[in-house]
Amino acid sequence: MKTADRMQGVHRSYIREILKVTARPEIISFAGGLPHPDSFPADRVAAAAAKVFAEEGASALQYSTTEGYAPLRKWIADRYARQGLTVSPDDILITTGSQQALDMAGRALLNRGDAVAIERPGYLGAIQCFSMYGADFKPVNLLATGVDTDMLDDVLERTGAKVFYAVPNFQNPSGISYDASTRHRVAELMARHECMLVEDNPYGELRFLGEDVPPVRCHMQTPSILLGSFSKMVAPGMRLGWIYAPDGLMDSLVRAKQASDLHTATLTQSILYRYLVDNDVDAHIASIRDRYKRHRDIMVASIRDHFPEEVATTEPEGGMFLWCTLPDSVSAEEVFKEAIRNNVAFVPGKPFYVDGTDNTFRLNFSNASPEKIEEGIARLGKCLRHCLS
Ligand code: PMP
Repeated sequence: MKTADRMQGVHRSYIREILKVTARPEIISFAGGLPHPDSFPADRVAAAAAKVFAEEGASALQYSTTEGYAPLRKWIADRYARQGLTVSPDDILITTGSQQALDMAGRALLNRGDAVAIERPGYLGAIQCFSMYGADFKPVNLLATGVDTDMLDDVLERTGAKVFYAVPNFQNPSGISYDASTRHRVAELMARHECMLVEDNPYGELRFLGEDVPPVRCHMQTPSILLGSFSKMVAPGMRLGWIYAPDGLMDSLVRAKQASDLHTATLTQSILYRYLVDNDVDAHIASIRDRYKRHRDIMVASIRDHFPEEVATTEPEGGMFLWCTLPDSVSAEEVFKEAIRNNVAFVPGKPFYVDGTDNTFRLNFSNASPEKIEEGIARLGKCLRHCLS
């Protein structure tokens, strides 16, 4: 079948392909980016749904506005005030997960061939999505303190990139967060180079160590986009996220979304809003943080016990992932094959790079039980020793 040119450079999500292999019950998987299912408030969402049907009836099943359910947009705007950001509900567009927000941003901003600065490694879903619009990626290294701002300065200067896509909190895949001075510097560089920051923040609420750091948006003198999601604080299956965008861009985003799906499901927006106002969401998020901290501590301790010293790992202060770097000569894809033979799985780092680097891999710590984490890391330690010997 002769498909459109735009599909040529777009690969199937490598992770979704890997998940087919790792679904076998005997495999301990650190591959998916899945929240822990016990963190989904199923009973409370069911109660919220019953209330929506009792109180709103058929109107919860009707078409609605593209911008999204007004009370939900206000709830999001009010929550930003806690981070020191003054946001009008009019600047919020509800999307079908923040993945759709990325798609809307790509459609509204990118022409084929436009340079897009992206973290190296970068979020696979953004690479896939912006590829669809012909992005010419310009990778910028991540350091332990966040993006390498000297390199970013240089890349923006040389390429005139129109957009910088960043995940400053507990990045997927690396788990790295930007420190305060990196955030200031990024804001300054965006202004100096007239570059649009697309700041993606699905994990910001999941800090379990250290102090909260305000979004880069708080330091920006120029317009920028901020994306958010309910996937990690409530449940990903509801597919609810949002995009906060400056005045001049909102109309294009709304038109892009209309062309795509008219609006996000009326029903799930109403149910989620009911859930948010009828429950103590902060207590719920605190329980998720506690759980993930426990998982992360067990994974870090097990790695120290079992991994060879030559394997470097990040020790994140939040989120769901940590990131391992092998000696240059070792291929993570080879380690992956050995791991699958030993019934343990992770995601090799290659698809997170636009330049083919192959000596890194991602481990998810939110989904497996503490017992499975210990057992899985011990198995992986054996595989690493085998591959590094
Ligand atoms: N951005 C990043 C950095 C992510 O890790 C994810 C989830 N894997 C998304 C966006 C998309 O999340 P959702 O569509 O569920 O909000």
